[in-house]
Amino acid sequence: MEIVRDIPKLKETVKKVRAEGKSIGLVPTMGYLHEGHLSLLQAARSENDFLVMSIFVNPIQFGAGEDYEEYPRDLERDRELSLSDGCDLIFYPEVRDMYPEGYSTFVEVEGLTETLCGASRPGHFRGVTTVVLKLFNLVSPHRAYFGQKDAQQALVLKKMVEDLNVDVDLIIKPTVREPDCLAMSSRNKYLTPEQRKEAPLIYRGLEEARKLFREGERDAEQLKLKVKEIISGSEEALIDYVEIVETRGLQPVKEVRQECLLAAAVKFGSTRLIDNVMLEV
Ligand code: AMP
Repeated sequence: MEIVRDIPKLKETVKKVRAEGKSIGLVPTMGYLHEGHLSLLQAARSENDFLVMSIFVNPIQFGAGEDYEEYPRDLERDRELSLSDGCDLIFYPEVRDMYPEGYSTFVEVEGLTETLCGASRPGHFRGVTTVVLKLFNLVSPHRAYFGQKDAQQALVLKKMVEDLNVDVDLIIKPTVREPDCLAMSSRNKYLTPEQRKEAPLIYRGLEEARKLFREGERDAEQLKLKVKEIISGSEEALIDYVEIVETRGLQPVKEVRQECLLAAAVKFGSTRLIDNVMLEV
């Protein structure tokens, strides 16, 4: 497995791989790998001849006062973890190569990026779509793998690929959870032991609301109340949002009469965690 920092070297390598008629799978990450990332690598490994993982903490998707500087970084740890999944190449670019002086082009998906995390983190998705399109152009993958944990991100990227006619298949894999059902996240590392104990309340809240939904409750306000009530069982949790949106335009609904996403963002101290479940009619 090779670690490539240099953009021309990456392009040359993938060009050769393509010329040999091999398929390329791409798993974009910000590193500090956990089982969620590894599940994407495993899926990509089984479906492609050549597997590229990118590790890049993308500055333009972080807002002012967010955790760009503190975001955990450990290339050696990531390299070892990804070895077992047979990654062929880790692309580990430098910020100054991805965004050289004078860089001025950005990708913006309208509509879908205005609710949920888009409302709390202005500019976040513009940073995500820009870097992911750059990665697609650099790696030319046949398939790219993303997690349902970031459900809004997955839908925004699907829309970008559709709207801009990008020739890549997006594959979305289920959320991988800790034994107590907390969604795995590189940010879980920031939690204090007390916060870590309470963080599974997010998923418990979402699941309890889904149970109510399955029992027939269709009123979005009632379902959201249930989630908030359970999360409020934690003294440390500060709810950013609990929202129910339809899965096409990500617009909030009053009644759940079509497939919807029940999503939450919760802060424990300065650590912001997100999670979601689907409400299927
Ligand atoms: P990140 O490094 O946090 O940017 O995540 C890289 C990719 O891994 C994204 O497509 C995420 O949606 C995905 N991912 C993160 N956490 C999980 C998880 N717990 N289960 C499945 N996929 C995940």
